Amino acid sequence: MKNVREEFGSLVFDDREMKARLSSKVYASLKKTMDEGAKLDITVANAVAVAMKDWAVEKGATHYTHWFQPLTGVTAEKHDSFIAPAPDGGVLMDFSGKELIQGEPDASSFPSGGLRATFEARGYTAWDPTSYAFVKGTTLCIPTAFCSYGGEALDKKTPLLRSMEALNKQALRILKLFGNEEVKYVSTSVGPEQEYFLIDKADYDKRPDLKYTGRTLVGARPPKGQDMDDHYFGVIKPRVAEYMKDLNDELWKLGIYAKTEHNEVAPAQHELAPIYDTTNIAADHNQLTMEIMQKVAAKHGLVCLLHEKPFDGVNGSGKHNNWSVGTDTGVNLLNPGDTPYENAQFLLFLCAVIKAVDDYQDLLRISVATAGNDHRLGANEAPPAVVSMFLGDELTKILQAIMNDQPYEAEEAKKMKLGVDVLPKFTIDNTDRNRTSPFAFTGNKFEFRALGSANSISCVNIMLNSAVAESLKIYADRLEAADDFEEALHNMIKKTISDHKRIIFNGNGYDDAWLAEAEKRGLCNYKTTADCMPHLLDDKNVKMLTEQKVFTPAELNSRMEIMLDNYCKTITIEANTLVDMVRKEILPSINKYMGAVAETALAKQQVDSSISISYEKNIISKLSNLNDIIYAGVDTLEKETAQEVEIDDIVEQGYAIRDKVLVAMEDLRKACDEAEMIVSKKYWPYPSYGEMLFGVK
Ligand code: ADP
Ligand code: MG
Repeated sequence: MKNVREEFGSLVFDDREMKARLSSKVYASLKKTMDEGAKLDITVANAVAVAMKDWAVEKGATHYTHWFQPLTGVTAEKHDSFIAPAPDGGVLMDFSGKELIQGEPDASSFPSGGLRATFEARGYTAWDPTSYAFVKGTTLCIPTAFCSYGGEALDKKTPLLRSMEALNKQALRILKLFGNEEVKYVSTSVGPEQEYFLIDKADYDKRPDLKYTGRTLVGARPPKGQDMDDHYFGVIKPRVAEYMKDLNDELWKLGIYAKTEHNEVAPAQHELAPIYDTTNIAADHNQLTMEIMQKVAAKHGLVCLLHEKPFDGVNGSGKHNNWSVGTDTGVNLLNPGDTPYENAQFLLFLCAVIKAVDDYQDLLRISVATAGNDHRLGANEAPPAVVSMFLGDELTKILQAIMNDQPYEAEEAKKMKLGVDVLPKFTIDNTDRNRTSPFAFTGNKFEFRALGSANSISCVNIMLNSAVAESLKIYADRLEAADDFEEALHNMIKKTISDHKRIIFNGNGYDDAWLAEAEKRGLCNYKTTADCMPHLLDDKNVKMLTEQKVFTPAELNSRMEIMLDNYCKTITIEANTLVDMVRKEILPSINKYMGAVAETALAKQQVDSSISISYEKNIISKLSNLNDIIYAGVDTLEKETAQEVEIDDIVEQGYAIRDKVLVAMEDLRKACDEAEMIVSKKYWPYPSYGEMLFGVK
């Protein structure tokens, strides 16, 4: 990119383009819709559509698509061209306001978990004007929400927008109580840090497991893994640096503020972090980032792996969701501030998050649950499946002081009017940042670290926003009814701390002792997707999410089904892939190698029957044993998989797949990996871990 300032956002129909291309009346009206959610008038929509189309055509677009996030996790698009027949036999490039606002994908093949009977298979997509349209290739992409004609959300964006609205509504009530009349809306922002692996395309092409499942299902440990910790923040290799440069260029053109890039802990692992943005935009951008990461890799003869655990024995990839709440007047409500009022307001928002995370720890766990992420949570590389919060020593001491009615040992412990001590200026020390906590306060934002690299960030933020909205609602109800605001506020902060202190844990989250302690504290520890997903429908969760108007009961039912179905299918596909690899490549390769070794033994004997063939005998005997184990193992895996997928009840199927299929896969893998260590490299059908992890220079 020659000139970053000029080219940044050049493929986005952003505010600059809108201002330049729309009449001031149309622009003002659209802006009102974007900022305040006012309804969009059709005449305005028509004017916007024409301007947007003209702009897109100038950028080389011939088609448009309503770009949305179905429940499968990836984004979806169906392209329509702008062309319309012209009377003279030629074509016009045409695009109306109606087409901009609403689309009708034939959506019968997207999972809906029974929300949409097939006879009314069509859903519709509705433009989300707060997220800018952009051109990708030759297509104008219009970020949209996707609903059934009954109004049920068939995507992740609709509930995300609803959750942002829920939080906005409750936060405004609280701000009013603190005398903030000028704030018009409150929104959440997210900066997602994205981890990924880069491997050579030639290696990838030789691995059916990577192609079909995104992760390696067999593979012996390389002689060197991440033991030396020499990759983290290490010098970026030239081929990777070229890739990162190209990736940044593409993302910048799309208006994505790609900011930070570095090597991660595992060899071949890297990270990209953008500058934070409003949550729905951050979610769109993160989806787009994942897509562009893969596209740019292909151009460089590389493959970008977004799976949570592509390689056993080295760290998998996650995503960190940095989250804050702010006002349209530019105040970050998670910033302690300078005045007693700001301090008290901060404490209340902090308490709202503490209460939300404790009350709905299960929902947060559920929101990151996938078959892929199950391999990380609880392993010593990612925060455990137990959700807890890190607040840092100083903030924890302050909360303790409030709880115990003791003054916090500040320089001058002056009581403020609100009955809370004036908070001393505290800064969270960067060196003291606890990286083993799933949910950490990092000075003016919270960082939720349990997401898997392939997760949509929408899921987490839907739950987080809704849960915090619920805490704020309870606070607002009480405070609005209180005779003495200050006393009520003080008591509520105190009560929250003492009721929810169990969720706060500042120690090492990877320590086994913590798991025992967490159990004593009564915190949830759902190890797998099969364990946690059914709890989506627990009464308290349904009650909160429906009262906050984020989901209907039918939507929740459908999501539970889809997520579990996805879990079962993912593992079934893995099992089928492994069976195929073992039968068609691994067993034959081992046999072929044994044949070669036997031939050598025979040849040696022919030369001189007294020559030792104990090496050959040993190898053949070991491999022959392993082949028996592998052969039995593949039979078991095949049988179990066929049997478990027949179970009708999806919750029961989930348990069976977890207990039978996953275990059979593990057993089979062990024997295969042992064989890989014995068989000559020439005979082994797949590139090794070492080749893949250290192959890109
Ligand atoms: P680290 O790796 O130390 O966690 P990074 O700098 O890699 O930190 O990432 C921090 C992320 O947090 C970035 O995406 C950044 O934009 C984001 N962030 C910073 N301030 C806020 C905020 N107030 N709200 C939300 N996200 C934020
Ligand atoms: Mg981080």
